[in-house]
Amino acid sequence: MNQNPLMTDYNVDELNRRFDKAAPESVLEWALDEFQNDLILACSFGPEDTALLDILTGLSDNPRVFVLDTGRLHEATYEMLNSCRTRYGIDFEIYFPEQQKVQALLQNKGPFSFYDSVENRKECCAIRKVDGLGRALGGVRAWITGLRRAQSDARSAVPRFEIDRAHNNILKINPLVDWTYEDVLSYHEQHKIPMHTLINKGYPSIGCEPCTRAIQPGEDLRAGRWWWESSQKECGLHVAHIGSNI
Ligand code: SF4
Repeated sequence: MNQNPLMTDYNVDELNRRFDKAAPESVLEWALDEFQNDLILACSFGPEDTALLDILTGLSDNPRVFVLDTGRLHEATYEMLNSCRTRYGIDFEIYFPEQQKVQALLQNKGPFSFYDSVENRKECCAIRKVDGLGRALGGVRAWITGLRRAQSDARSAVPRFEIDRAHNNILKINPLVDWTYEDVLSYHEQHKIPMHTLINKGYPSIGCEPCTRAIQPGEDLRAGRWWWESSQKECGLHVAHIGSNI
């Protein structure tokens, strides 16, 4: 018996068949109708997220959108938050890390502990990102992400719909799974929507300022994330595609 009132118990195989090759608009229309206020978009202001933000605000007057403010974001990301607040007229739900945990981390290990080891990096991501994600998803039945299969090998098998086992078994919806990076840029061009200024400086994937660099031609699109590590380029937000990478 389902003990969790938020657990959706959806047949994702059926949903993936039903929406195979469906446009993101169709997927989001269905999700808004199905979940209404129990649906939330994750937005870090990368180009996939702003494309979804644009589509979602075209379908709903008051969609729920959350931002994980790690406290270490690029200045340009805060500028995007500001311009998107104005353009779309929505109040983003901001999740900031717990003060005491950040304070203890800084006091015990300093401001750049993530460069010292994978364990330290995961510790920082857990405090600054993963904790907040748990709070953001604590009261919803479904969330929307900008994951695409072409972003990296670790994401090559991402389905359009999946059950998020790490978060109360809620439904995770990835409407852009089969878009290419060119599709994403083309959507921005066609709809004249705000683009993060780092995109044109060689940052196709944007995270925290000290942990992201521009990529070189031919590199994996997520190669600029935690570039000093050789392991998979994930922070623990999308556990299903990375094993236990928190
Ligand atoms: S990306 Fe870097 S600064 Fe941001 S939470 Fe992870 S380790 Fe910390």
